[in-house]
Amino acid sequence: MPRPITAIIHQDALQHNLNVARQFMPDSKVFAVVKANAYGHGLERVYDAFKSADGFALLDIAEAKRIRDLGWTGPILLLEGIFSAEDLVDCERYQLSFSIHNEHQVQWLEHYQGMAQFDVFLKMNTGMNRLGFKPHLYSNVWHTLKQCKTVKSVTHMMHFSDADGDRFGQSGIEYQHTLFEETIKDLAGERSLCNSAAILRYSKALHSDYIRSGIMLYGSSPDYPTHSIHDWNLKPSMSLRSEIIAIQNLEADETVGYGSKFKATHAMKIGIVACGYADGYQRISMDAPVLVDEVRTRTIGRVSMDMLAVDLTDIPEADVGSEVVLWGTSSNGAVLPIDDVAASSGTVGYELMCGVTARVQFITQTN
Ligand SMILES: *Cc1c(COP(=O)(O)O)cnc(C)c1O
Repeated sequence: MPRPITAIIHQDALQHNLNVARQFMPDSKVFAVVKANAYGHGLERVYDAFKSADGFALLDIAEAKRIRDLGWTGPILLLEGIFSAEDLVDCERYQLSFSIHNEHQVQWLEHYQGMAQFDVFLKMNTGMNRLGFKPHLYSNVWHTLKQCKTVKSVTHMMHFSDADGDRFGQSGIEYQHTLFEETIKDLAGERSLCNSAAILRYSKALHSDYIRSGIMLYGSSPDYPTHSIHDWNLKPSMSLRSEIIAIQNLEADETVGYGSKFKATHAMKIGIVACGYADGYQRISMDAPVLVDEVRTRTIGRVSMDMLAVDLTDIPEADVGSEVVLWGTSSNGAVLPIDDVAASSGTVGYELMCGVTARVQFITQTN
């Protein structure tokens, strides 16, 4: 029997979450963001659930090719654009759209010798200061692209730095949105603005012809802890499950694990779980929530490479073979949101789902 740790990918949850994105912005076309191998889920494992989307958005041409190999003929958007002039050959071959965020990319397009005409997404830097043209440069670049014979359409694109929080001033969503709208007010073309946080929190205030939903599709709340997945009606799409492989009964003052970081104050029962940092569980997490036989308890002591310990004091019937949910849903439907687990190591659901390692067996669940 293989080691009992598995990552289950729930097709019904992926479909449900995509429908939630549509419900929030019914007049928008939806790009399912599947970068980073579909946020760690595996492109091939999410494709069927997402093929009712209007397009896929990702970073690597290699990933785009995998989507084409699955039979997708609709739009694919490269969110970081092209990395070299030669990439345009692949963009032509695989009919890829891409963002344009720097001068080099504009020049590569102008000098391209192929026959293709590309749908490009011109990125404005409204304050994130990662990618894109500052507003005072934007309209010039837009005019250049409009005259370029290799360009079919130019969509206005921006990315909010603070759609998940309550920050104002130059990092606030209102400031960035106003700057964007003022800059493009005399320029024709569709818009693409919203990530998950903007879709969920500002659907009424924003007009976005193409939304780019990522994390919400995978059942993590972009503005946790302000809102949980329950508040947004999202379902976990990945469950990391394992089993208890040993029981230890501790006396008062006994310690657990490397560095003896946990010390029992009274006699207690603990379980050892087949899950460690080599599976992608965060080593620095402390008192992280877990479900054992559907009951919520916590990790104790240090996470080691292959194992971690959980408190079973209040779960007397738990034994070797008991189901452990590290995040996601139990086989009977009890939910442990990935965001609750991420918080105990000071990170976000994104990082946990992207970090499950290759030795974990993935299973696609279709009901
Ligand atoms: C990753 C990404 C998204 C999706 O963001 P989520 O927070 O996961 O919804 C949208 N737009 C761009 C440009 C991105 O890089």
